[in-house]
Amino acid sequence: MGLSRLLRVSNRSFLAFIFFFSMSTTGLYFIYVAPGIANTYFFMVQAQGIMLRDNVRTIGQMIRLYTNKNSTLNGTDYPDGSNSSEYMSQPTAYLPENFTYAQNLPCPERLPSMKGPMDVNMTQIPMEEIDLKFSKYLDVHFGGHWRPKDCKPRWKVAILIPFRNRYEHLPILFQHLTPMLQRQRLQFAYYVIEQSGTQPFNRAMLFNVGFLEAMKDLDWDCLVFHDVDHIPENDRNYYGCGQMPRHFAAKLDKYMYLLPYSEFFGGVSGLTVEQFRKINGFPNAFWGWGGEDDDLWNRVHYAGLNITRPEGEMGKYKSIPHHHRGEVQFLGRYKLLRYSKERQHLDGLNNLNYTPEISLSSLYKNITVDLHPDLAPIADY
Ligand code: BGC
Repeated sequence: MGLSRLLRVSNRSFLAFIFFFSMSTTGLYFIYVAPGIANTYFFMVQAQGIMLRDNVRTIGQMIRLYTNKNSTLNGTDYPDGSNSSEYMSQPTAYLPENFTYAQNLPCPERLPSMKGPMDVNMTQIPMEEIDLKFSKYLDVHFGGHWRPKDCKPRWKVAILIPFRNRYEHLPILFQHLTPMLQRQRLQFAYYVIEQSGTQPFNRAMLFNVGFLEAMKDLDWDCLVFHDVDHIPENDRNYYGCGQMPRHFAAKLDKYMYLLPYSEFFGGVSGLTVEQFRKINGFPNAFWGWGGEDDDLWNRVHYAGLNITRPEGEMGKYKSIPHHHRGEVQFLGRYKLLRYSKERQHLDGLNNLNYTPEISLSSLYKNITVDLHPDLAPIADY
């Protein structure tokens, strides 16, 4: 009797053990194969906390304000906190509609054509439709080149897009980005750098390849590193470069329009060619999801540079929803990130070999490369 009871209890604990074991291994497997999605979920939980805390603080301040009518918040009329700049009135010195352009003068940065919030439409659209629209009506030249005719473009911008298996995303991105860049009177072209082969996706190495290839075409002076599934929501997010590297994608819908952490440099970023060469480009050693953008941030800082971000609403982006789970997490990233400084001048633009296959289509240049770790050998550090 005693024995059968004992067996029954141990059977139950055994089943419970199996249940929790399979739940936790499934959880870990999910985090490994879908790190982007897992990260987003974790961040959303955190973000709820941050928003709740901010709301409580704002309500507290309102109550204080109402109970003490003569006082102002923080010596100003704006709540304090890291987001207070958003409450400040933004200088809205955009040029008037009747502004006259001059062919021999640089295009201004705050143009009347830049209206602010844009409609984002995620509906899939065939590439042929976009091709036709832009080449015929928007005067985009074969290979995706465009330059303004009524003023001298302030920046020549190469838009680099790392890519694998996301054919339906490209036309959606072009559909939004092309008119926006035209309204910003920038000279630009698109480079889609596609990874073939079976190695984990290497976003950073693809950017390095894209940079070296783009510079063979034209003397670009500004580089925008653009994820294919990030759609800007505001055309005042100016894609020119500046004295400091720029993080354009400051507010992502998937992170509830909050910056996940202050060193976040992912999604869409921009550097001048000079800045990019100075930091030796991206690292080549990040195979799989995560860390390469953090390493870029480290490189920028070790080079004595800071990043700037668009203010307020301007840095908003929507991500194209997708179900791909192709990317595996790069578990070695934490170790590499500890040695960013030592690796910076050993791994990057200067140790990279590759053999590209190049094809031109109406809207972009496609650079296909099969990447392997031995294409970027690295000396001991
Ligand atoms: C990763 C970055 C990623 C960020 C936001 C970090 O843990 O290292 O590569 O951009 O999360 O998703």
